[in-house]
Amino acid sequence: MSTPPTTSSSSSSSSSSSSPPPPPHLGHGDAALDVFWDEGMLGHDAGAGVFDTGADPGFLDVLDRHPENADRVRNMLSVLRRGPIAPLLSWRPGRPAAVSELLSFHTPEYIEELVQANAAGSKELCAGTFMNPGSWGAALISAGTTLSAMKHILDGRGKLAYALVRPPGHHAQPSQADGYCFLNNAGLAIQLALDSGCRKVAVLDIDVHYGNGTAEGFYRSDNVLTISIHMNHGSWGPSHPQSGSIDEVGEGNGFGYNLNIPLPNGSGDEGYSYTMNELVLPAIDKFGPELIVFVIGQDSSAFDPNGRQCLTMDGYKEIGRTVRKMADKHAHGRLLIVQEGGYHLTYSAYCLHATLEGVLNLSTPLLADPIAYYPEDKAFTVKVVDAIKRYWIESIPFLKEL
Ligand SMILES: [Zn+2]
Repeated sequence: MSTPPTTSSSSSSSSSSSSPPPPPHLGHGDAALDVFWDEGMLGHDAGAGVFDTGADPGFLDVLDRHPENADRVRNMLSVLRRGPIAPLLSWRPGRPAAVSELLSFHTPEYIEELVQANAAGSKELCAGTFMNPGSWGAALISAGTTLSAMKHILDGRGKLAYALVRPPGHHAQPSQADGYCFLNNAGLAIQLALDSGCRKVAVLDIDVHYGNGTAEGFYRSDNVLTISIHMNHGSWGPSHPQSGSIDEVGEGNGFGYNLNIPLPNGSGDEGYSYTMNELVLPAIDKFGPELIVFVIGQDSSAFDPNGRQCLTMDGYKEIGRTVRKMADKHAHGRLLIVQEGGYHLTYSAYCLHATLEGVLNLSTPLLADPIAYYPEDKAFTVKVVDAIKRYWIESIPFLKEL
């Protein structure tokens, strides 16, 4: 457990003898991070029930709030505002997207379905995905805020931007909702980059679930390399027909530009590090993006109700550092980070802090990991990664000499 900074346990008043720790500082050449946020995103309430069902069986005194609730993001917000990383962040306003902006990624029929659902008051669009009063407004702000963060980079006003947004977006496909997601925030931002003249965008999605919506949106394009590291959950019904398996590699011009990395449960920090070094880095090196989108979900942590991949704060920090290195190497440091899942109220916020510490190249951990010790065994993960690498070399033209 982490210990808050204290002066003396017996001290009853603020003491002038203790000085606060010096603020963290960036190394030479490093930039601060712009965080895009708007309170209106807290207006989405997915309800309560048994886990994410929205159903009350009548035999429980205390129901769960839906995992994708406002409190999880309140803690992400507060850990960035009041945590040790706070001096390195600049806060920027978000905004609602115009409905016309949504058509760059979504079909008019689907957007009309969402508008009608909002007008009706409440609707379960698919399993676990509830639109209630306030949801549509929050979804529009989530999309618009991500677009603002991307525009900030495209306009050259900053290189590192983080869209702290909800409801999440990476399962939302061009024509349907899925997995707590209504609008594909990252997908809309990527399309904005393409429409602004960017020719090559690489997307790395480390949420524990397959970023099927983003993949689907660019499945026939070789301008966008989508890479998703996820647990091997497969399809979960009509709203999520994609399996996330290694052989979903894209179609037409996009053949070979959708790379799925389904990892064994419990892969942990070492397994993810091996994955990054053996698969992700070489693929991004070969692709040579002009901009990188880093889609983050802390449900790949060691302590999440929705995932079992067992990353700890060290693992997230290392991934963040590696992605930043890739952005510096290929994209003149241009890196958009987009928030997705992460459902444990405390640990998601802490893992977000660690990820951003990594992105900012901070060498000494600013925030201690509250998980005392977590044993790892990467042996199975190594076998899986090696098998995926062989498959890529044999099947993906641009990765022939990986
Ligand atoms: Zn997820």
